[in-house]
Amino acid sequence: MTVDSIFMGQVLLGVFLALVIVLLSYKAKFLNFSGSVATFILAVLIFGFGGWKWSVPILVFFILSSLLSKAGKKRKEKFKNTFEKSGVRDYAQVAANGGLAGLFIFLYILNPDPLYYHLYLVSLAAANADTWATEIGVLFKTTPRMITTFQKVEPGVSGAISFYGTTASFLGSLLIALSGYFFSISFERLILISIAGFFGSVMDSFLGASFQGQYQCSMCTSYTEKKTHCDSPTNRIKGFRWLNNDLVNILSASFSILLFILFY
Ligand SMILES: [Zn+2]
Repeated sequence: MTVDSIFMGQVLLGVFLALVIVLLSYKAKFLNFSGSVATFILAVLIFGFGGWKWSVPILVFFILSSLLSKAGKKRKEKFKNTFEKSGVRDYAQVAANGGLAGLFIFLYILNPDPLYYHLYLVSLAAANADTWATEIGVLFKTTPRMITTFQKVEPGVSGAISFYGTTASFLGSLLIALSGYFFSISFERLILISIAGFFGSVMDSFLGASFQGQYQCSMCTSYTEKKTHCDSPTNRIKGFRWLNNDLVNILSASFSILLFILFY
């Protein structure tokens, strides 16, 4: 076999794997239709062009966070009307969590600089840290506090942090860094990626508390990230209307990237 046919084989295998993952995720309701299309494109790029080195970290992120979103389903039902998005991911969520990852493999294909692989890991570490903070944080029956004022708030409110959520966030970041460690990143960078990803999640809470649009339902008076609640439009009580959860995720991951580059 020539190099070209080996490469074509890897791309075809990538397309096949991407299709399997997306179909299973759609059936399990981890993704809606637009989320499935976005994930398929991202998966072909990463499985097809990146091989195991790039595929393992994103599989760790995707599989564990999908499963976590279904854990403690009963308890999370309560927050279904608080969070802007539910467990079923749409294309905007996939782009917010995986868009930077997609950008870095694309840059790496154009110019194979190891920096891009590190940035890829940082963007996934930040996404995983944020997902674990929320999904694991709300499973514990402790009263979280606002990151800005340290006042006690309802679980699930943007900007609410707890001991368990914060611990989970760091572990989530560390796990992604570890999944890249076995593919030749140094120990120092493993630590740096874990810390950068973790601080992305801290930034996420901070932006959530300070600038993200927060709304109150005019019917049931509950606080929410949603623009409609109880079938009627909600009133904005603070934050920017244009700054939604997906944008907060992108900004936070970018903050992690900046932190990493600063110390690289
Ligand atoms: Zn309501």
